[in-house]
This record gives sequence, structure tokens and C-alpha cells, in this order.
Amino acid sequence: MGYPVIKGTTMEDYDDNGPMCTAVLRRDLPALIHAMNQTRIFDYEVFLLSIPWVEGLRLMLSVGSDLPFKSQIALLKTAILWKELEAVRAFLEAGFMVTQSVWNNTCYHLEKIGEDESGELFSAMIHNVNAARNLRDMSLAEQDARVGHVCGEFFPYESWRLCKIAAQCAWDGGYCDIDSPSFENPDHGTPIWKRALEAYRSETNESYDLGLDILKWLYEHGARLNWTHPKYLTTPAHLIGRGIASSIWSENQSTHEPDLEAFLRSVLLSEFPDSCTCTCSEAGCHILTCAVTTSMEWGRFPRSNRLFQQHLVEQMVELVDSERHDYPWLVPAMLRCLTFEELGLTHTCCVHMPWSLYELSSYSPPTSEDIKSIRYSESKDIALLETLLDGFTKSWGTYSGTLRQFIDDIWTSTINKELTKAKEAKEESLHALGELGVVLEEQAGHEEQLDPDSDDEGRILNSRSVIELLAFRA
Ligand SMILES: [Zn+2]
Ligand SMILES: [Zn+2]
Repeated sequence: MGYPVIKGTTMEDYDDNGPMCTAVLRRDLPALIHAMNQTRIFDYEVFLLSIPWVEGLRLMLSVGSDLPFKSQIALLKTAILWKELEAVRAFLEAGFMVTQSVWNNTCYHLEKIGEDESGELFSAMIHNVNAARNLRDMSLAEQDARVGHVCGEFFPYESWRLCKIAAQCAWDGGYCDIDSPSFENPDHGTPIWKRALEAYRSETNESYDLGLDILKWLYEHGARLNWTHPKYLTTPAHLIGRGIASSIWSENQSTHEPDLEAFLRSVLLSEFPDSCTCTCSEAGCHILTCAVTTSMEWGRFPRSNRLFQQHLVEQMVELVDSERHDYPWLVPAMLRCLTFEELGLTHTCCVHMPWSLYELSSYSPPTSEDIKSIRYSESKDIALLETLLDGFTKSWGTYSGTLRQFIDDIWTSTINKELTKAKEAKEESLHALGELGVVLEEQAGHEEQLDPDSDDEGRILNSRSVIELLAFRA
């Protein structure tokens, strides 16, 4: 008969497991009833085998199961993993225990199922969590620590891949602590911080998903976008800002709903700084410039796409231009960031933050010693940055055009002039040293190696030069 009951197994694997197993494997209801009349012992394996046969499963559950909590959790997780939603439903109706890890698994595996169905399942889960908590509270009063141990604490918003539907069900179920730093690992920040850190993630490498809907949902339910992580010094809003560099202006540009687009815009235009120390900003990064610096930083890596970079920088300049009257800080912030990039200075800010929680554990932000030594070694160029910015601020004060026009009319030529001057001065001093008989070792690694294959199909070597980028056309 070969019912393909459990993935990767055949009936023969279970042949010796007694009449109940055989009945389940054969989907034979009369045989199951007969077997159930013979014994009241339902072991874990029988339930496991019946996950894909919900008729038999429900029959067994209706008689009642005395499965230990651990088995209940394992069965629920298996049903979720296999996306056997009817079985999940049956287990939940039977009052199976839902723990943090069951919830996390559900968020991960059922994220993409239909809204109605997943809403119903997430609600049922919250119901069971609450029931178990009541049970725990009662049992703790009676000193039965076993139940307390199994229930554990429950933090629905900490779940990786938390979706809006799950979050709403948790909220409706009475969970309103939405913005506390992670209980499991304080390094992970608040739920919105954690989610924003991984904002670009997706199941495939082809499409990028900022997860804007859940970020917006969390924000609207009280999560702070300007919460500064005490260790990593940056906020969810800044992480969203840099996430943009990888997402909406990418090859597979996803079109956002108008309200998500408006949310994103309002995040980008928020003025609050983070606590980074870097000369790319005056006193903490700006959210909008985080997108630009992230994109430019990627210019270090060969074989990524210069079109993305160009598109992003142009979009950000456009955004600044459309909002510059309402947000006067935008232009100076953008000019500083672009000039910083053009001079090739080293960031000591959140631009180096990793893109996943996994990598976060091995990352430490630059220390004040690191910052000091970078500033020391780049002191000449930093002084040039400040001089240039003074000039740009003055010119911008009397300029009547847009930032884009300013870049084309004034910024590019001024920087080019300065860079030529600096190059000439350097050559002169090298020449003078040569005259004195000093031989310098050649500096290696500064010129990027051009990849001969890099130009096909529009994939062009990246650039760290804004001037080059904005002059570049496909
Ligand atoms: Zn920086
Ligand atoms: Zn920062």
C-alpha cells in the first residue's frame, strides 16, 4: 500500500509499531477505532505519523492525550515545519503548549501563508500561551515548578521574521511591551531595532524586502524609531535608512503601498541624529545620509552594480531637493556626506554595522582610540573637508538653484580643483624627496583592479566617487 505518510520514510519503517501505527499509516479509520479500543496509550510516534491525516489525528485528540509538554511542542513544531495547517489547528484546539520557540518557528515558516489562515492560527497560539501562563501562575502558587519551566517567558515581538499578522494577534492578546530591549540577548536591541538591522533580508537573493509593513506597525504601536542602542550607538531609523541602499532602488525594485512609501519618506526626513562619531556628519549620522554612505561604501566591493549606486544617490539628492525648503538641514548634511565620500575619508560610524544578528556578535563599533587614530592619519583631508564645507555653505547661502544644479555648477568643479591641487602638491613633495635621494616603497592596493568581465550585462564595477557616479550614464 505505500502511503507516503512521513516525508522521507516508508511504511516499512513503521511496520513493527503496532496496530495503531498501522491504522494511521493506512489511513484506516475503522482499524484506528478498533486499535483505540484495545489501548488507551497514544504515544508520540502515533501522533507524529498522523499529522498528515487530520481525520485520524482529531479522533485521537478527541479521546484526550496525556502527552508530555515536550512532545506537544515537538508535534506542533513538526506540523508547522510541514505546513500541515489542519494538524496545527487540531493541536491548538486540543490545548497544546505554545512556547517562544513554537512561536518563533511559526513566524518563520508560516510567514507567507494567507492572511486569514495565519491570523486564525496566530490568535489560537496566543490563546494557548495565555492559557499556559495562567496554568503556570496557578502551579507556581502550588509550587509545581515543572510547568513554570516549560512555559518560560514569552516575548512575541522578538521573533525573527515577525510578521504584521502575528504582531497584531499578540497585541490583541494583551502583549503590549513592544519596545523593551531583547530579554534573550540585550545586544539585539528592541524588537524594531533588531528588525531594522536585518531590514534588507529576504528568502532569495533576487528580491530585497525592507519589511516596511512590520516596521511601520511596530512604530505605530509605540516602538521608538529614535531609540539609540547603547553599544552600537545607532537607531532603528538609521538602520532603515541604510537598508534602503539595498532594497527599494535595487534591480527588483518592489513597489510599496503609498502609506508605506509615506512612512519611509518620513523616516528618511527625520532629523534626530544617532550617537556615532564620524566626520561624515557634524554630530551623529543623519538617516538619509546613512543610505548614501552605505551605497558608496559598497563601492569598495568589486562586481556589484554601479547603476544601483547611481540611482540611489540621485534619488536621495532628488528627495533633498523636493524637501529642502521644509527641512533646511538636509542640504548641509548632504553636502558634507558627499564631500566626505569624494575625499575618500574613512567612516567611523554605523556604516560598518553588520547586516544580521548572527554577525552582530562578532562586531564591535570603532572605539574612541580607533577614531582618534583615524582622525590623526587623515587630519589633512579632514581639514580640507571642513574648508570645502565652509565654502559650500557660503555659496549655497546665495545660490538660487537646486542641490542637483549646485552639484553640477559648483561642487564638482571645486572638488576637482582641490583634488588636482592636492595631487600636484603630493607629486611635488615626492619629487623633492627623490631629489634628496629618498626612495619610497610603492603603495599597493589603492588602485582597484578592473575586471575584464565586469562590463557585460550592465554589471559595472562600483565606484566610490560621487562625481564619477553622477556623471555616469548607462
Ligand atoms: Zn560616517
Ligand atoms: Zn551612525
